[in-house]
Amino acid sequence: MSSITCKCGHSFSDGQIPSPYKQFIISDQQVDGLVEQLLSILKTASDNLGDTLYYTICNTGATVYTCQKCGRLIVFNDKASEKADIEYVLSN
Ligand SMILES: [Zn+2]
Repeated sequence: MSSITCKCGHSFSDGQIPSPYKQFIISDQQVDGLVEQLLSILKTASDNLGDTLYYTICNTGATVYTCQKCGRLIVFNDKASEKADIEYVLSN
């Protein structure tokens, strides 16, 4: 996914790393598995340890983008999907 288009019409790129408008939702159960994964990675430390840890965390859970124009939260449960699963609009 390289571009996100909000229902308000605003489009933005998700190519910036780290992104100021990209968040992750990780369930408690996923955190448990993530900790095990990170510990395993740390035991086999490589030259790219920071990148490996970063992408392991980023590939866990749902990805949420915040539209900079309207504040809507755009949720992708499947990181490979081009279509958002859920969108939340601010109540105020
Ligand atoms: Zn928007």
